[in-house]
Amino acid sequence: MDFLERLDLKTFTEAARRVPYERVYSHLFPGIELWVRRDDRLDPMLSGNKAYKLLFSLLEARERGIKTVVTCGGAWSNHIHATAAAGARFGFSTLGVIRGERPSSLSATLQDAQRLGMKLVFVTRAQYRRRGEAEFLCEIGIDEESMLFVPEGGAGLPGVRGARLLGRVIKETSPVRFDQVWVASGTGATFAGLVAGLREFPVVGVEVLKAGGSIEAGVSQWLRELKGEVEQSIERVDTQGAVYRGFLGDSCCNLLSSFHCGGYGKFPSYLSSFLDDFDAQVGIPLDPVYTGKLFYALSKSASSGNIAAGSKVLVVHSGGGQGRRGYF
Ligand SMILES: *Cc1c(COP(=O)(O)O)cnc(C)c1O
Repeated sequence: MDFLERLDLKTFTEAARRVPYERVYSHLFPGIELWVRRDDRLDPMLSGNKAYKLLFSLLEARERGIKTVVTCGGAWSNHIHATAAAGARFGFSTLGVIRGERPSSLSATLQDAQRLGMKLVFVTRAQYRRRGEAEFLCEIGIDEESMLFVPEGGAGLPGVRGARLLGRVIKETSPVRFDQVWVASGTGATFAGLVAGLREFPVVGVEVLKAGGSIEAGVSQWLRELKGEVEQSIERVDTQGAVYRGFLGDSCCNLLSSFHCGGYGKFPSYLSSFLDDFDAQVGIPLDPVYTGKLFYALSKSASSGNIAAGSKVLVVHSGGGQGRRGYF
């Protein structure tokens, strides 16, 4: 594994080009040719989609001479962890606004973040709910003049641009021509970026929370903000027991809405046994919140014949390994 030693577009892109693709053989995924792109191995501290999503915000901060990056998240947030690590690596101060009262003992994630130099500010859940509002930082006593604010999860247009870079790198480096590219979706920023970067490849996003239409709405908004560079149509499908309507038609990217397994962070026993099987057969480490549900959805879809036989499917491993500590 290499380190992202410097913060510039070239170093980052080269690191992204070195990320390995692995062919996976397992009867959990019948009838398809499965590949995994190991973006969890981009860098030992700054891994997965969170690194891509931070890239353009960090470049902007440096260009504007901003020394402090502020963001927000929960106690096990991969994004908080990545932001703290990026700050330590590239010389920014970091400030994390954390949801909920300060607990008597910090989660492993927050301990790491603190050790990496992040200052933690705990706010009540009621305050946290207002994190999308312009006055939020001011109201919780943070002077944002000299700081760059990155939205929760690294979402937002700079985050989408980073994921678009990932999409472009996949096009450039893919070992075979993939019929579908799958990714876990929380805010949908990574999905949106992949749709923009991959163009003619159909992208499938697996929603990991009960999102209603919110992920789809965010994705559409971001794709519009990328100024009509993208013509892909997005269709949200509830796959429960049904054949995917319009599934992966010529230029149709899908968000799958029925594999959240009960909601964000929920870890029912069927998901747990799937992860055990996957671990025994494949051995690639997954997390219960994102990549676990992603592979579960793919397994169910392949087993129920919802994916054309012989399809070449690429799964983007978006990282999240540090968050596993909240479960195991
Ligand atoms: C944050 C995260 C996601 C979700 O990314 P979005 O861009 O918010 O959809 C997926 N996988 C992992 C491991 C994550 O940490």
